[in-house]
Amino acid sequence: MDLSTLQIPVQKTTDSQLANVDFSNLPFGKVNTDHMFICTFKDGSWQDPKVVPYQAISLDPSAKVFHYGQTIFEGMKAYKDSKGGVWLFRPEENQKRLNISAKRLAIPEVPKDIFMEGLKTLVETDHEWIPRTEGSSLYIRPFIFASGRGFHASPADEYTFIIACSPSGSYFAGKVGVRIEETYSRAANGGVGYAKAGGNYAGQFYPTQLAVADGYQQVIWTDDNAHEYIEEAGAMNIFVRIGDTLLTSPTSDRILDGVTRKSILKLAEAENIPTEVRKISVQELLEAQKNGALKEMFGSGTAAVISPISSFGYKGQRYELPQLEESYAAHFKKRITDIQYNRAEDPFDWRYPV
Ligand code: PMP
Repeated sequence: MDLSTLQIPVQKTTDSQLANVDFSNLPFGKVNTDHMFICTFKDGSWQDPKVVPYQAISLDPSAKVFHYGQTIFEGMKAYKDSKGGVWLFRPEENQKRLNISAKRLAIPEVPKDIFMEGLKTLVETDHEWIPRTEGSSLYIRPFIFASGRGFHASPADEYTFIIACSPSGSYFAGKVGVRIEETYSRAANGGVGYAKAGGNYAGQFYPTQLAVADGYQQVIWTDDNAHEYIEEAGAMNIFVRIGDTLLTSPTSDRILDGVTRKSILKLAEAENIPTEVRKISVQELLEAQKNGALKEMFGSGTAAVISPISSFGYKGQRYELPQLEESYAAHFKKRITDIQYNRAEDPFDWRYPV
């Protein structure tokens, strides 16, 4: 299909919930907008893309998503500027990554025009739901699952692709303390860690519950071998500042290639901030902490934006991080959100008008 000719039909709701939402007090990801995009894969192709009122869906108990976890998702945001203009941030990166995940989970890839036109039509339809309050935005969740049925452990023959939206405030309510994982693994070499597959997240919940019970908010995952190197957090890539050098782990088949992560690396490069993309051992972190070179750590992600890490735990001990006046976290958060909310120049063409 040609980008310019694909028209997504819109069936508008007659029962808008917009007036019932308290935009001054938004939780993360709990309120949904009036509409959703839906498209089905059957008989070998993606068909019938449309925007419809947000609604429950009905699935056969044998739908393969329930049995074999064939489901993937994306996370992105729409932002409203002070003049009411609506922007997405690098949406084509999410489109590509959805298909990278699809391929790994044997899910049929979605044509680019269906993704992009579906997304734009939905955001346009629900544009009044995009919060204007600082720190809030419209969180967008594209996802695909195996709706085809059968107990045979093989890929389904039918899939559903939905995009749903949620006006959202911040992801973390307070300080972010992380525990460096020593027992459990999130991903393995040759596995699905680089995909946004539902099971990657299900597998994190129990170890994260254990960390939460010990007073942390998140787990920092380590390599699946000897838990020697830090990799990423639950829904964030991780950056460390040692001296004035900004460090982050290289992406691999175990780590999600975050859009925020690569944007920070690009900005850092343009600003000549010394940066190293390399493996970071827990030992190096502990030594830098001991000799005062460890200045800050922060997580990066669409939902979490840039979240400073206030402390980290390892082998039963908790290490507090200094509170910097001029942190890289604050600097990059301002740079990125200024671009996202159309408050600053966009040197890399990351903003995408809706
Ligand atoms: N790692 C994981 C495991 C994630 O779920 C996310 C959120 N998508 C990220 C990193 C950050 O990626 P992005 O900046 O593209 O949101």
